[in-house]
Amino acid sequence: MGPTMTKHYIGGAFVDGDAAAIVVRNPATDAVLAEIPGASAALAARAAEANAQAARGMRAFPLLKRVELVRRLGAAIRADVARLSVALMQESGKPIAEARTEVEYSASFFDNAAAAAEMASGELPASRVADRRVLVLREPIGATVAITPWNFPLAMIARKLAPALAAGCSQMVKPAEETPLTALLFAEIFDRVARDCGAPAGAFGVIVGDPPTVARELLAHPATRKLTFTGSTEVGRILAAQCAPRLIKTALELGGNAPFVVFADADLDRAADQAMLTKFRFMGQTCISANRFLLQKSIAQDFVERLESRMRALVVGDPASESTRIGPLVNDAALAKVEEHVRNAVAGGARVRVGGSRVAVAGLSSRFFAPTILENCAPTMQCACEETFGPVVAAMTFETEQEAIALANAVPFGLAGYVMTQDADRLLRVAEALEFGVIGANDGAPSTAEAPFGGRKDSGLGREGGHHGLDAYVDLKYVSLRVRA
Ligand code: ADP
Repeated sequence: MGPTMTKHYIGGAFVDGDAAAIVVRNPATDAVLAEIPGASAALAARAAEANAQAARGMRAFPLLKRVELVRRLGAAIRADVARLSVALMQESGKPIAEARTEVEYSASFFDNAAAAAEMASGELPASRVADRRVLVLREPIGATVAITPWNFPLAMIARKLAPALAAGCSQMVKPAEETPLTALLFAEIFDRVARDCGAPAGAFGVIVGDPPTVARELLAHPATRKLTFTGSTEVGRILAAQCAPRLIKTALELGGNAPFVVFADADLDRAADQAMLTKFRFMGQTCISANRFLLQKSIAQDFVERLESRMRALVVGDPASESTRIGPLVNDAALAKVEEHVRNAVAGGARVRVGGSRVAVAGLSSRFFAPTILENCAPTMQCACEETFGPVVAAMTFETEQEAIALANAVPFGLAGYVMTQDADRLLRVAEALEFGVIGANDGAPSTAEAPFGGRKDSGLGREGGHHGLDAYVDLKYVSLRVRA
């Protein structure tokens, strides 16, 4: 662990905390990885002020310098993949091979934001009258705050920070208490690159502490103009309410409840491969993980058999091992929720086809849960109404396309939905009918840096990625110019 990883990164300096410590544990081994003295309200207020000052510096930092900074950050992340992926694996329990994939995915947001910023341009709309020109200018929105979750300790920072910097904004990040070490290691990398590039001190910061206290202070600063949050719908609502009095812009990427719809005309092997990607990436602990498997009745058994044979090949074990695909769930609350969903489904008449309980892994914690298939689930069960966030396939059947669409949309969430079919008409018809922001069409891994990621309904507001992600950090201004003939 680096020497700076128990400090906060504020105003371009690593500073000691002054409040109750955040204890970071390895969910696979229970080992204490770090104790980080948390930030008090006073330190959080200092961080907000440093962020405000850096926003002024970033506004004046020329586009080409910003683009260079952002590109070099992407390259520096790739160069440090070994350290970053180990830190990420240790604090989150993400299998090491996946942790490396996350590091590369994180770097891709920096590439993408740099390219988007380089290509961005204002507008000069055709004038309705002869003596007037309207110039549409793009300006950075200023100081921004990011609150990020534990399931992508680096990628959720990258997806927010890269466009913020590229657009000319500063960003103060409060990572999840479970996973601050990857953020702090990245701060070390950022500090070196930012100095090399002559970037304003404090363009990016990391602060760790009691979430409501830190959030309140960061949002209270008069210069804070935007909050970008990824986490639960419940906390998203609390934060949106805190942003309301000063109309701070909000981007909220919240929970999902993704349907995975398999039609009889799907290529079932391909569909099963895609199901494995969406369901078992990080043990199902992602907001776009398929939660409800809606299977057309005539192929339901066949599909489930193919899925089961693939699931039996998943190696459950130490996330530090290269062959591991299923590590521990992130904490005891996560495990308790998965167990509760299985119990509730079985009590309601579902059948456990495979898995259904914890798995003992020698010498490691008791947070490992077996890859599970629940058949005969119903839309009223917890596993269908709520995000299970674990390695559980909740399967139910349908007869017609209309029924599938109705079932898929019958939740208040709208982040990701999946449709598997070989019929091109149906593919587009269903993709259009699904009320979700991200559609995986024969694709179980639809996240990518160039796409406008985000949800509808209770899944949130705003888009991240591509030029839409950059636009989220831009304020438009127009200059109406009278021209004498
Ligand atoms: P999860 O249930 O997946 O942990 P949360 O929404 O609780 O999702 O957490 C996501 C992020 O929100 C974390 O960084 C967490 O510290 C932060 N958070 C949780 N509660 C609050 C709060 N009341 N105010 C500000 N941030 C919060």
